[in-house]
Amino acid sequence: MEPIIALEDVSFTYKINEDSSVPVLKNVSFSIYPGEYVAIIGHNGSGKSTLSKHFNGLLTPSSGDVWVQGHNTKDESKKLDIRKTVGMVFQHPDNQIVATIVEEDVAFGLENIGVPRAEMKHRIDEALEVVKMSEFRKRPPHHLSGGQKQRVAIAGVLAMQPDCIVFDESTSMLDTFGRNEVLQAIRKMNKMGMTIITVTHRMSEAAEAGRIIVVEDGKIVMDGNPREIFKHKQVLMDLQLDVPAVSQMADIVHSQIPMFSKELIQEDELI
Ligand code: ADP
Repeated sequence: MEPIIALEDVSFTYKINEDSSVPVLKNVSFSIYPGEYVAIIGHNGSGKSTLSKHFNGLLTPSSGDVWVQGHNTKDESKKLDIRKTVGMVFQHPDNQIVATIVEEDVAFGLENIGVPRAEMKHRIDEALEVVKMSEFRKRPPHHLSGGQKQRVAIAGVLAMQPDCIVFDESTSMLDTFGRNEVLQAIRKMNKMGMTIITVTHRMSEAAEAGRIIVVEDGKIVMDGNPREIFKHKQVLMDLQLDVPAVSQMADIVHSQIPMFSKELIQEDELI
């Protein structure tokens, strides 16, 4: 199977001015395949957000290449195709909402790319349905809760029919209820076949994914399924990841993967 996103020896440095620069990503290579649900974890400043901005060309590598469905993100003529393939949802729902009525907000991106009226209505209906916001379509977004606003932002991205959506700490501003609403929408989109990449500092959210990539100091230090990753409790603790949550992961992973026996967990000196 062809990867949807492939990073080849990617390094990235922020240039502050002539004399100063911040090297962030260091020789990063991995591929993401259609239908995967990938969580990217790592402590603050490890380079997760910088990495995720490479997935749709918001940032391009200082050296190395990123390929999105075979298109190089440095190729200006493919920028629009790449943005259509990989949508992004950010942390602050307020910064992503532009219109005064929910359905107009969802329509915004579609108008920009000239989708015909009838098709637009169909896509808005479908997107609002997936995030369970249909009944709010005529409401002003500023009256909604954080979780509801974030779901409107997701509907806006979804309506563009991307193959992949990247969530960059998209639940971190939300309360437990709002977070669960958004996670439900994410699960549903993945079940529909969409590729999901989520950047999160929450281990419980990472455990939802089929694959976890651990970033430290701009490098990939672990890449595997939650079962494999949470075996390395000490490594995760050394990376200052949320240790109490890490300790609960054996239970969560255990309950999610029934064929994974408790004996095996103990044998491998799991958490
Ligand atoms: P994370 O998402 O893991 O918190 P980031 O990718 O946001 O990490 O940041 C990684 C490093 O890059 C940090 O040292 C941060 O200060 C630096 N950085 C992030 N954005 C910029 C920027 N626009 N200009 C300069 N340095 C930046």
